[in-house]
Parts: sequence; structure tokens; C-alpha cells
Amino acid sequence: MSEYTGGCLCGAVRYKVIGEPVRVANCHCNDCRKVTGASFATNVFVKEENLVIESGVTKSYQHKSDSGNMMPKKFCPECGSQIFSYGTGSPGVVGIKVGSIDDANDIKPQITVYAARALPFSHVDKSTEIFQEMRRR
Ligand SMILES: [Zn+2]
Ligand SMILES: [Zn+2]
Repeated sequence: MSEYTGGCLCGAVRYKVIGEPVRVANCHCNDCRKVTGASFATNVFVKEENLVIESGVTKSYQHKSDSGNMMPKKFCPECGSQIFSYGTGSPGVVGIKVGSIDDANDIKPQITVYAARALPFSHVDKSTEIFQEMRRR
């Protein structure tokens, strides 16, 4: 069974994830770009019960997704690192920003969403299942 640890830039927020992720997705949507400040986001989705916050208190900000779901995002109020995201469309699942994981070498993205919105210089990982927009359910 795998275990991942991670946290924010300043180290105030620390967490641990036990077990395998439910899904790992590269997302090229505008919201992910804005929130990460990067050209795209890799979101590691895990079951909420497998996430243990070991220290720190996060602050959250909510926005609405294309599909109308509320998408709370949790970040460190000290250093501003965005770490966790939630979606009312996927209860019980937390998205963890891959950059917050201490050692993400074993993380393997399985899908790419919003590929149609990828910036020209972004790498779209061809080894993943690619969706031009949101993943169809
Ligand atoms: Zn911090
Ligand atoms: Zn996104």
C-alpha cells in the first residue's frame, strides 16, 4: 500500500495520503491555470477518508465550474499554496495538486481533460486517455 506525504511551500500545512489515488488527471482548463499559476494542473484524486491533515489550517475559496458545481479550493493562508480541491459533483473525493506532494515520481496521470484548451507550449501527455473537454461519465 502506498503512502504519500505533502504540504505547502511554508510547511505550515502538512498532510498524508494512505492508499492509491482514485484517479490522476492532467487538466488544461482556465480555472486550473489560474489557481495553480502554472500552464496546466495535475490533480491527484483520492478518497477523502484516505487523507489525513497532520498540521496547519487551510483557508478556502469557492467558485462555480462549467457544469455548475461548486468547487471549493483550500490553500495555506500563510504562503498561498493551493493544495486541495473539492467538487460538489464528486462527493467524498479530494483533488490534491501534484506539486504539493513531496515525492511525486510514482504518480502516473491516466487521463487528460480540457485538452482543447491546452496552451500551444504545453505538453499533452499522449500516454493518457485524452478528452478535449470534460470527461464524459
Ligand atoms: Zn504554507
Ligand atoms: Zn481544471
